[in-house]
Amino acid sequence: MAGLATGPAQVAIGKNPERSRDHNRRVVLDIVRRHGALGRMQIARLTQLTAQAVANICEDLVSEGLLMEMGRLKAGRGQPPIQFAVNPAGAATVGIEIATDQMVTTVLDLTGQVQYKRIRPLSDSTPNKTVPKFLEELERARSSYSSRLLGIGVVMPGPFDIDGMSSVGPTTLPGWGGIDAASLLQDACGTPVTVENDATAAAVAERLFGAGHAISNFCMIYFGGGLGLGMIHDGAPYRGAFGNAGEIGHVVVVPEGRLCPCGHQGCLERYASLHALHEKFAHAARQIPAYEDVEHLYRQGDPLVLDWIDEAARYLGPMVAMLENILDPETVILGGALSDVVIDAIIGRMDRLPTSVAGRRMRALPRVMRGQTGQYTAALGAAALPLFDIITPKLETSLPASRLA
Ligand SMILES: [Zn+2]
Repeated sequence: MAGLATGPAQVAIGKNPERSRDHNRRVVLDIVRRHGALGRMQIARLTQLTAQAVANICEDLVSEGLLMEMGRLKAGRGQPPIQFAVNPAGAATVGIEIATDQMVTTVLDLTGQVQYKRIRPLSDSTPNKTVPKFLEELERARSSYSSRLLGIGVVMPGPFDIDGMSSVGPTTLPGWGGIDAASLLQDACGTPVTVENDATAAAVAERLFGAGHAISNFCMIYFGGGLGLGMIHDGAPYRGAFGNAGEIGHVVVVPEGRLCPCGHQGCLERYASLHALHEKFAHAARQIPAYEDVEHLYRQGDPLVLDWIDEAARYLGPMVAMLENILDPETVILGGALSDVVIDAIIGRMDRLPTSVAGRRMRALPRVMRGQTGQYTAALGAAALPLFDIITPKLETSLPASRLA
């Protein structure tokens, strides 16, 4: 697993004078993590902050343990400059994915290296049963880091708090409707908790650690229990006004199609989701396949699995074209709780994508790609959320200088 990837050429610049100290700290941390190690003068040049401001910020960040001094790099005449780098042991973040059937826990150090991963099956994901298990998993993960905990990111399937839509159906978490999950979990563990929907967290994970590390604008179609969409816009997650952007699972793709618990008929996730696959097995009175069994069955040419892949691809193809026409992303990444082989099979079946604005001949990337962060993608994204908040300058100030005029 790679650490925090160096991003695209887009460079965040600082603000002078020091009216936004917090922003300037993020800019310095971001520049240093992208470059690995930098001296003060290089930081000042890249961030367009004054040498004095950079010196003050570096001093603060070193005293807080977030940056470390790397010694002096010999270059040219005179006293070589001290190099600064992000201190991996400076802090840790925990990410927990609460899914309908499992809880996945990851721990990252400050450079984004994975220190710990664990999956625990969940037979009952209602709040009363989940909170004690959440605390147990936190306690277990604690042994993997000695540094201070920056924060906890939790991901859950959305949508959040939509009248008549939230917490309905087997792909959402039962009993969480109307509950402020962040406050509940934060009060239970005594550490700040950020809650995000699983697809957005997965997109953040791909952005920091996976296929999206050099891509500033992409869509991520995420297979959880249901189907979600995460969007990275100019390098940052796009959440919408209420945190529910990207709810593609309940877009109707088959008029008069299969009934959906949301009240509609023919929603996309009634065809393209793990739940749809499980339903096929239930109808055939066969045992529901576990994560690793789906790939095995696919390799054996199991007709139910092949049928499901065909159906998922048939309805995902037009959705990809629609996303391209609306959002004009560089690429669409497919990922989530499916093995690489199965995701590749779905992408393979989407070979004849409808025409869209993405049909450029000189494409740098394929229209659809597989994600690289695998089964842990949402939990990694969860752990990255507190990191992302601390090391990444906010969207409005991360525009290239030419666009700030
Ligand atoms: Zn629906």
